[in-house]
Amino acid sequence: MNEKKDILNLLDFIRQSPTAYHAIETAARCLERFTHLEEHEPWHLKAGGRYYVTRNQSSIIAFVMPEDTFSHFQIVASHSDSPMFRIKEHPEMGDKGHYVRLDVEGYGGMIMSSWMDRPLSVAGRLVVKTPQGVESRLVDAGRDLVLIPNVAIHMNREVNEGFKFQAHVDTMPLWGTGGTEGTFLDVMAEAAGVKQEDILGHDLYVYNRMPGTVWGGKNEFFSAPRIDNLECAYSSLQALLQSKPGNQVNVCAIFDNEEVGSESRQGAASTFLSDVLNRILLARGMTGEDAMRAVTSSVMVSADNAHATHPNHPEYADPYNQVFMNEGIVIKFSARQKYTTDGLSEAVFTEVCRQAGVPVQHFANRSDMPGGSTLGRISGSQVSILSVDIGLAQLAMHSSYETAGVQDLDSMVRGLTAFYQTRVKMLGDGRWALDRQSHA
Ligand code: ZN
Repeated sequence: MNEKKDILNLLDFIRQSPTAYHAIETAARCLERFTHLEEHEPWHLKAGGRYYVTRNQSSIIAFVMPEDTFSHFQIVASHSDSPMFRIKEHPEMGDKGHYVRLDVEGYGGMIMSSWMDRPLSVAGRLVVKTPQGVESRLVDAGRDLVLIPNVAIHMNREVNEGFKFQAHVDTMPLWGTGGTEGTFLDVMAEAAGVKQEDILGHDLYVYNRMPGTVWGGKNEFFSAPRIDNLECAYSSLQALLQSKPGNQVNVCAIFDNEEVGSESRQGAASTFLSDVLNRILLARGMTGEDAMRAVTSSVMVSADNAHATHPNHPEYADPYNQVFMNEGIVIKFSARQKYTTDGLSEAVFTEVCRQAGVPVQHFANRSDMPGGSTLGRISGSQVSILSVDIGLAQLAMHSSYETAGVQDLDSMVRGLTAFYQTRVKMLGDGRWALDRQSHA
């Protein structure tokens, strides 16, 4: 089953990406034939060239230049981060000589119970002293390292009646026994191959290192950490790699900090995307009105996973706009524009998928449930263009171990590849032409 092979590649991508930093490093490895640009250096972009640029090592924008002149950009955006625990600057809490725990703070809205009683590890980056100044080094302890133990049912008889987690009490991972104070940064320094005394700063996170798995009566499902949103990030990279250069600039953007509102220097609300688009235009000599015309006639697909109807709780889904795993790409709608999709962007994306034979389904929250938002609307505040919010149907979003459908990955890769290979050209306000280009 080819679909299973594709899933194993995705599970490998997820395993190599315990934090947003690692996800971007893994993405850059996928883009080995692309030229790595730095934001502080001048850019000389060639027709037909393939490039990528990173910001804060945790967001990446890759793009493919057309062979000829171009009129607009076609962008797929996703995110690199997932809910997890950030380790504080003074990481250790010694408890009367018997235990040492790590002092952590939640990053993003997580399902706390999914982090209990399972082996966890620590990864992120260490910033170390160098002869020139400072340098960041990615680090992954890469072994079972800490665990957050539940309280036994004998001491909390109501645990199954609904348990309220106290962030500063119930979620502190156990690091070691008494006498292990002062060893945490030693272990991380050794894992990174640096000296402990050279560490000047760190961004370290507790992550679930349980391997992904394919399961179900007919192997229909897979489960893994960080499916939201590494599945979409991986799919968009595969689509960019598989598509031929078009008559527009194809852009694949993966942003950090979506889970905490995107308002960082590298998040979707930052200037990263608009800076990169403007520099591409400048490098090709497009300024003034030409540049404004190119940006306003661009199109964005914001790809972030969606909620499949829960098998035990179908009442949480809108009965007439619900979506299921293995039934195709989800197009998301919200009257309050939590998602950017409107009838126009829905029609454009649906037609692109229909021409490629890719199934789509439609999602809206129950009208009395607020639901989530995503980065389409946030980056839309920086670069205001026609956008559609899509994703794949999954269960247990923001659990440390999520579940999705095996067949859907193929739908997403083919749908996004078709988007990159279809020239979506603006003809006027409310009128767009779809011109299917060369096939991969
Ligand atoms: Zn997400």
